[in-house]
Amino acid sequence: MPEKVQRWHYIVRAFQILDNETSQFDLIVIGAGINGAGIARDAAMRGLRVLLLDKGDIGGGTSSWSTRLIHGGLRYLEHGELGLVRESLRERETLLKIAPHLVRPLSLMVPVYKNARRGIWTIRAGMFAYDALSLSKSLPRHRLLSSAETLREVPALKADGLLGAANYFDAQVEFPERLVLENVLSAVAHGAQVLTYARVDKLLVDEGTVRGVQFSRLLSQGREAQERMARGKEGGLGPALNEKAIAPIVINAAGPWVDQILDTSSVDVERLIGGTKGSHIIVATFSGAPSKAIYVEAETDGRPFFVIPWNNKYLIGTTDIRFDGNPDEARITSDEIDYLLHETNQVLPAAKLTRAEILFAYSGVRPLPYTTHRAAQKITRRHFIRPHPRIANLFSIVGGKLTTYRSLAEHAVDTIFKQLGQTPRACSTAQDPLPGAATGFFFGFSHRFKRRSPLSPATNERLLRIYGTRSDLILKLVQQDKALAEVFDTETGALAAEIVFAFTEEFATTLSDCLLRRTMVGLNSTCGLNAIEAAGRIAQQQLGWSDARVTEETAAYRQVVAEARP
Ligand SMILES: Cc1cc2nc3c(=O)[nH]c(=O)nc-3n(C[C@H](O)[C@H](O)[C@H](O)COP(=O)(O)OP(=O)(O)OC[C@H]3O[C@@H](n4cnc5c(N)ncnc54)[C@H](O)[C@@H]3O)c2cc1C
Repeated sequence: MPEKVQRWHYIVRAFQILDNETSQFDLIVIGAGINGAGIARDAAMRGLRVLLLDKGDIGGGTSSWSTRLIHGGLRYLEHGELGLVRESLRERETLLKIAPHLVRPLSLMVPVYKNARRGIWTIRAGMFAYDALSLSKSLPRHRLLSSAETLREVPALKADGLLGAANYFDAQVEFPERLVLENVLSAVAHGAQVLTYARVDKLLVDEGTVRGVQFSRLLSQGREAQERMARGKEGGLGPALNEKAIAPIVINAAGPWVDQILDTSSVDVERLIGGTKGSHIIVATFSGAPSKAIYVEAETDGRPFFVIPWNNKYLIGTTDIRFDGNPDEARITSDEIDYLLHETNQVLPAAKLTRAEILFAYSGVRPLPYTTHRAAQKITRRHFIRPHPRIANLFSIVGGKLTTYRSLAEHAVDTIFKQLGQTPRACSTAQDPLPGAATGFFFGFSHRFKRRSPLSPATNERLLRIYGTRSDLILKLVQQDKALAEVFDTETGALAAEIVFAFTEEFATTLSDCLLRRTMVGLNSTCGLNAIEAAGRIAQQQLGWSDARVTEETAAYRQVVAEARP
């Protein structure tokens, strides 16, 4: 491994190592999804010593499998959840401010048809209420369009029975994977420790109080031994990999796996999660593809569903089906595919989409509160920070959305301080930008970056929308070593430097982490398969991977992709 890369590699790695001296924390957070990452960030910023553990990669759970909207939840108005809508709209504003590189305004069209369950007056009332609940917002107010105006804006919409449309704004987080990551980067910058591929196997409970967790490292023995040796040589960072961590408070933020974590304690606790599965399909642009997102009532069951321009492709979803299985095994079914294709072809008849057009698909399980008596779509999307009457100092996170993760984290950390008997220190996560927006006014930075970067305009745009102001660090790598300017994926224009950056600065451990949740190349139209050989070669040349590791990692990646292609 080249010396400069090695140095960064070990500095970052040092944060990931647990040794005996540091295994005592103020707080252990289980799960590095958006909620766990947000809580870790907030707690670390308020001075707590935090350990964040995930059995997989950062953001590799439900947070990667959503519709990728930062939305007020227009639909929740129907269920009278005004408080949730108000909170979501406020958080949408906050995220547009603290993460402008990742969260951007999105224009949505809501076409209304004769005989729809939600008539034109219902939609109008909803739009006025939505605007009224977000008086201080920066996004434009809604517009109501006649059918002729609607067809001018989206000519391929089904014209038969069209009464008109509402055009309104929400926001899109193209890559929630990176929103999660940036929360973790910020947490680490404030002193938190993070361990990925560290599965919590047991809650340690003594005399009715949680004391910590027992966990296993899931990396292969061979790789781990190699890494330990390398760290030892690097200057004695310490090889100890403790499998227990102790803290007075444990937060169970394992999303749809929350009950699995609770089952590892020796105490009987009530079931908390009643998950519902939601699936999406991704297709390339198609005949009649809209330039704005479409949010329309499904013909089959009246559920609202989306066709959204996303990542130079279209994201279509979602479904909402009760799910009692293992969240690791949630996959799109044939019926869900038929439903999503049918509904898209129904509202955009020129599309004529078939299975052949599906590039990939994904499914996730919403970690909703357990209930026996409500239809899936009526279950509240609010979040709850649940204490456990029989296990003191343990709190489980139930429900929530990407959109409201920050306010959830703020409430959770306030609760932790209270439980510790301390006055909560002030929370500043609503003001402090995430690391990719950290150097001030992002749009000014973008302008200057484009002027001084020798890279192509398309590459500059790509870097800014993925890394924000951290694009500077990538540029620095390229300037230090011209080989790192190599484009390893022609579709996205991704650079070799990004692979190095993922492993040295952004906690990637596997090639899948690097492609799917750092460089985002894994979400291109071949799911990154076109780039895998080049990525392996670059990792070998720049990071010193052995032949065996390249073979192992590329095979593992192909396996992940095989599961994403229906
Ligand atoms: C189909 C769908 C569409 C959605 N669309 C939107 C949307 O458009 N906008 C929006 O705001 N919200 C949306 N949501 C909701 C949102 O995605 C979730 O509520 C949110 O991502 C949950 O985050 P989390 O951190 O609680 O869970 P997760 O992201 O699932 O994180 C939990 C983590 O815990 C880890 N874990 C599990 N078991 C263990 C263990 N034993 N040891 C260590 N770690 C463990 C997992 O690996 C995982 O990384 C959607 C959800 C779904 C499913």
